[in-house]
Amino acid sequence: MHRATKIVATIGPASSTPEILLQMIQAGADVVRLNFSHGTADDHRQRAEFVREAARQAGREVAIMADLQGPKIRVGKFENGKVALVAGEPFILDADCELGNQERAGLDYKDLPRDLKPGDVLLLNDGLIVLNVVRVLGNEIHTTVKIGGDLSNNKGINRQGGGLTAPALTAKDMEDIRTAMSLGVDFVAVSFPKNATDMEMARQLANIAGAPYGIKPKMIAKIERAEAIPALQGILDASDGIMVARGDLAVEVGNAAVPALQKRMIRMARESNKFVITATQMMESMVNAPVPTRAEVSDVANAVLDGTDAVMLSAESAAGKYPVQTIETMAAICIEAEKSEQSELDKDFLNRTFTRIDQSIAMGALFTAYHLGAKAIVALTESGSTALWMSRHWTHVPIFALTPRVGSERAMALYRNVTSLHLDTNTDRDTALQQALETVVSKGYASRGDMVVLTVGEPMGQAGGTNTLKIVRVGEPY
Ligand code: PGA
Ligand code: MN
Repeated sequence: MHRATKIVATIGPASSTPEILLQMIQAGADVVRLNFSHGTADDHRQRAEFVREAARQAGREVAIMADLQGPKIRVGKFENGKVALVAGEPFILDADCELGNQERAGLDYKDLPRDLKPGDVLLLNDGLIVLNVVRVLGNEIHTTVKIGGDLSNNKGINRQGGGLTAPALTAKDMEDIRTAMSLGVDFVAVSFPKNATDMEMARQLANIAGAPYGIKPKMIAKIERAEAIPALQGILDASDGIMVARGDLAVEVGNAAVPALQKRMIRMARESNKFVITATQMMESMVNAPVPTRAEVSDVANAVLDGTDAVMLSAESAAGKYPVQTIETMAAICIEAEKSEQSELDKDFLNRTFTRIDQSIAMGALFTAYHLGAKAIVALTESGSTALWMSRHWTHVPIFALTPRVGSERAMALYRNVTSLHLDTNTDRDTALQQALETVVSKGYASRGDMVVLTVGEPMGQAGGTNTLKIVRVGEPY
């Protein structure tokens, strides 16, 4: 069954054996996310090797995303592992405190007291605990507990409304970028970027680290800070894609603002020719249960209807009891939601002009395939940008992107409605087109009599060279 929406699955303790990884890929994981907030460089190296091996066994390319921890501000550790905070009581966040207790907790970001003033509201542990700042005395933040609860080691801290000055790339992130590059990852996700400069810096660091496998990873901006919202267009321009990082974002801007922001971010990303992932708590109850709630089913379906390229699993696949079932369930929800989607291709094209030949061919192919009722679009691509452009608009015609470059093949695993396949193209144009068509037919995606729209660039082998559109009927003289 064809599924257009892609699935990103985070791996962790529940999913780091080769056997489970293979099952997850067979169930539909298209991209595997390594969360650099947890684990050592060796853990990530081992997991990346397992993913590559499982993908080989499954017979398809799966992309790997390295997700950097970023400047997540956290409390320190406690004498007894945790404390119980009670509403109305005082509590101190103390940058000099080594080991916390009932009265105070340490801070990993020592400059936090400098960023705060009386009246500020702090949200701990994803907003489950709320502290009101009463005064700042040197390195101590004196607060009153507004909403209490158990606070355990290393829980995160956000300020309501955002505005904390911690730089987006920490020393650990810089080291982790080097590790990620040495693993040949396909995507690097940057946590808490405030603006385009943060993304440019991350890309530069990746470039400096070098690419031992020749793969330049695509850079993903995680939109999870209040300040990133007004800076969104600049961040999009400096990134290859974004993640609607609803966990931290909800804490900063308030839960209720997130659904509308999700729709706006997805629309802006697509209009900017960037890809977009919708993340966090999509199937949260499946951490412990074999079936999702009705609300979770609706959430995943609505992200599909909003036009997301991919939906993401975090704890569900990293630490949950049912990583494989969660992916199967999510895949089924996506397929069902896609059936109901109305294409608005003609509207998308109203008053549009294109300056690039390759982009015009991509759009021409899409338009032709849609209005001809073609069975498939087959694009021969080097960089994958032809497939990216085509996939920014929704039609029910599946896009098959064939490339000789493994990096492009894996990156396209994330693009909505794109099936990426390998094809060596050191031949002339017509032979390559013939082989591309045969590949798609041999996999059962098109059969005799089907109309197929093909695109290719001549001379072959150059990125950005797509300049030819050809329409054929499978099985008729070519
Ligand atoms: P995280 O990012 O899982 O790394 O925190 C996603 C989010 O905040 O939603
Ligand atoms: Mn986050």
